[in-house]
Amino acid sequence: MSLFDLSGRVAIVTGANTGIGQAIAVALAGAGADVALVGRTPAEETAAQITALGRRALLVAADLSTISPVDRIIAETRDGLGGLDILVNNAGIIRRADSVDFSEADWDAVIDTNLKSVFFLAQAAGRVMIAQGHGKIINIASMLTFQGGIRVPSYTASKSGVGGLTKLLANEWAAKGVNVNAIAPGYIATANTDALRADTARNAAIEARIPAGRWGQASDLGGAAVFLASSASDYVDGHILAVDGGWLAR
Ligand code: NAP
Repeated sequence: MSLFDLSGRVAIVTGANTGIGQAIAVALAGAGADVALVGRTPAEETAAQITALGRRALLVAADLSTISPVDRIIAETRDGLGGLDILVNNAGIIRRADSVDFSEADWDAVIDTNLKSVFFLAQAAGRVMIAQGHGKIINIASMLTFQGGIRVPSYTASKSGVGGLTKLLANEWAAKGVNVNAIAPGYIATANTDALRADTARNAAIEARIPAGRWGQASDLGGAAVFLASSASDYVDGHILAVDGGWLAR
């Protein structure tokens, strides 16, 4: 199991108070990492789970709708936990409306959080990781990194952008010891997908199309995150790992 051991590593997970970010933070701690929990809502429940696993958790208050907290997030993590080895860019939002009606506000909000903050946090972490000669960056992509979706134009643009950025950063940083990859979750039961699951017809259509026959749970993402955070993935660069119950294979 030493290939997947994260003992002594320090991770940042954004949006770690709930959903996929919470599950990934707890999975990384389960593999041995100490975790900085970054977000606008304090991730106290996540911190308690991490502490119960015998690892350290640090709460870092930050609103990622702008990039102003980026440098402070890196500094607080290094000061509080003594390093920085892993960044999980998970925080994200979605706005739904027909494209003919879609507002500039819904465009900017999603692009700023899901794409701009992802890049500049990766840049700030990348500077530290390049200087120390090692690091792991994991961006949270989507099925809409590969597919068009419907009624979510800024989300599709942002997540397609995350896929491109993941490959670009891998091209620049793979030779410097920094692995940049992404996880593309399929349809996962979280607050982000409440609206889809509340729509009985959409919910049935989605479930019927998933080869695994069920919505994913946030905990289904943990194994992929530990893999991409660990030395098991040292020769994996610019990959977008779908964890989707077979959705893309269909
Ligand atoms: P979620 O339960 O809505 O969680 C989103 C997280 O992002 C929350 O912690 C939220 O914090 C945080 N966040 C949003 N805006 C933020 C901001 N301005 N500053 C700081 N944190 C912010 O959704 P989720 O499903 O776990 O989503 C996590 C990631 O997975 C997102 O990038 C999402 O696009 C992606 N994803 C989800 C699915 C799915 O099926 N659920 C599929 C593909 C990709 P608050 O609680 O404070 O709002």
